[in-house]
Formats: sequence, C-alpha cells, structure tokens
Amino acid sequence: MNPFSYLRPATEKEALAAIAQPDTMVLAGGTSLVDLMRLEVMRPQHVVDITGLALAKIETGSSSITIGALATNSEVAYHPDVVAKLPALADAIRSGASGQIRNMATTSGNLLQRTRCAYFRDTASPCNKRSPGSGCAALEGFTRMNAIVGTSKDCIAAHPSDMCVALVALDASVHVRGASGERTVKVADFHTLPGDHPNVESVLQPGELVISIEVPTTPLAAKSRYVKVRDRASYAFALASAAVALEVQGGPGGTIKAASIALGGVGTKPWREPAVEQALVGKRATQEVFSSAANLALATPDVRPDNAFKVGLAKRIIERALALVAGGSK
Ligand code: SF4
Repeated sequence: MNPFSYLRPATEKEALAAIAQPDTMVLAGGTSLVDLMRLEVMRPQHVVDITGLALAKIETGSSSITIGALATNSEVAYHPDVVAKLPALADAIRSGASGQIRNMATTSGNLLQRTRCAYFRDTASPCNKRSPGSGCAALEGFTRMNAIVGTSKDCIAAHPSDMCVALVALDASVHVRGASGERTVKVADFHTLPGDHPNVESVLQPGELVISIEVPTTPLAAKSRYVKVRDRASYAFALASAAVALEVQGGPGGTIKAASIALGGVGTKPWREPAVEQALVGKRATQEVFSSAANLALATPDVRPDNAFKVGLAKRIIERALALVAGGSK
C-alpha cells in the first residue's frame, strides 16, 4: 500500500478544510476504500476519516426520512420507519453485501462506492476509470457483470449499488456541504454517465462532503419493493434488479395512480424507466398491463454476447416486482 497521511477530524469544519486539499479521499466504513487502497487501485496521498463526526442519525419527519451520511447500512435497513414507509430501500440494502459488511458500510459510502468491473480492480489491465486514457479492457473482455445502458466507447462499467436504485425510484435527494455552503441534488442526478471521462462518477465536487440523504415518505413509497437476481443467493452484485413503487386506487386490480421504476445491474448509473412508468399510470393493475409495460424497458440496449441476457431478465424482474407490490405479498 502506498504511504498516506491520516487525519480524524472532530468537527465538520475541520473535515471540510482537510478534504479541500488535493489528492484526498474520505474514509467512513472503509469497506470499499481500504480494499481498493490495498489493491493499489486507489492511491490517495491523504485520507480523512470522518467517523468522528455526528452524521449518523436517522430522523423521521412529517413527509420524509433523513438518513445521516454515517448511518450504517444495517441501521438503515432495519430501522422500523424505513421498513414500514420505504420497504424498497430496506429490501435493497438487505440484498447487498454480507451482514458484517452492512454493519460497517455507511450510507454515503454506499452512494459513492466504485464499480465492480473486474478490470478496474486489476491494475495490470487498461481501465479508463482507474487510469484515464489507458483504454478499456472490458470492451473486448468478459462482460457478464457490465452495463447495457448509459455506456460509452470509453467505459461500460455497471453501477454496483442496490441502495441507490431504490433511492432513485423513491425520488430521494442528497444534501452535500462544502466551503461555500450546502446544496441538494436528486439522487437521480447525482451519478454521472461515463462519457469520455469515466473517472468522474458523480456531481460531488472536490471539497464537498455528503451530509445526508432525504427520502420522501409518500403513499407511493410505502408500496414499494426491490427484486434482485444474482449469480448466487448471498453476497453477490446484481445481474439485474428493479426497485418498483406503485400506487393503486380501489384495491387489487384497481387503477394505477402513480408508478416509479428504477433498474440496477444494467446501467452505468441507477437507471430510471419513465416509459414503463407512463405505460402503467391510468391502467388497471393486472398482470397483462405489467407485462406489456415491462416490455418497454431498455429500448436501445448496448449489449455484448456475455450480457445480452440482461434485457429479457430485467423485463421479467420488473414484471415480478410489480406483481409483488400490487399483490401485497412478501
Ligand atoms: Fe475500466 Fe470502465 Fe472499462 Fe471496466 S468498463 S475496464 S471500469 S473503463
């Protein structure tokens, strides 16, 4: 591991000053950064440990739940208000990683986690995300876990987070703070497409710190589910997943008043599907409607032989998640 300086500030002011210096990484749970530093994929000169800051609260308000940046994945997934009011978020977090990792990993770390593209982690392979301008080994390589939408000629890495897929479907926002004050960004707009700068992954600016994530507690959010398909039953990243929220008037088989759909495992960022949502609203909540709406997902995928199966798989996952929400089954 490369030498680096380590600082654990006691106040947010000290933390903001420390992270403003160039070549600095923020350390929270350490479940991602420490691995990547050991592999020499990330080689920061300075590491600022923010675990001494008071940013771990989960607060329930009248119309939203605000989750502190340092709340652990386990604390969020098993919080009674999150389970009751934001079931897709609880499902999504519980479907990710292992219990031990969820006990350490934080909300802001999950939001900012790096891709699991195998070539990104292999310093012997060219990777534009790790080393800008070096090339992309995945384009001619093994792509089963790579993205099929939001791709570019420079990077096809899938976004790895389950939590973020649920946050996008639930219309959550990120509160960030920097030297010039606080700003709020929708999670749907927080992650960026790779384009020709795949090393840039979000709109978070150098010197800014994620403070919290706010999730609206709407009737739509209360009827939400997350369905994930992976290569093994535990501790694996999504081949494809869907976070689905559905508000139906008049009970089972009634009229769909609102719908929200986001996909994981298929996009270079959590992937919202407005065409599917629009095809559902105003229709009856039936299996036929779910099936024809799901069929509109991923209209123009960028597939390779190893990952073409994700198109059909994602459509079936959407259909399954819609049926689960509409049926109210566990
Ligand atoms: Fe790197 Fe992206 Fe190519 Fe993977 S897909 S090797 S992360 S540039």
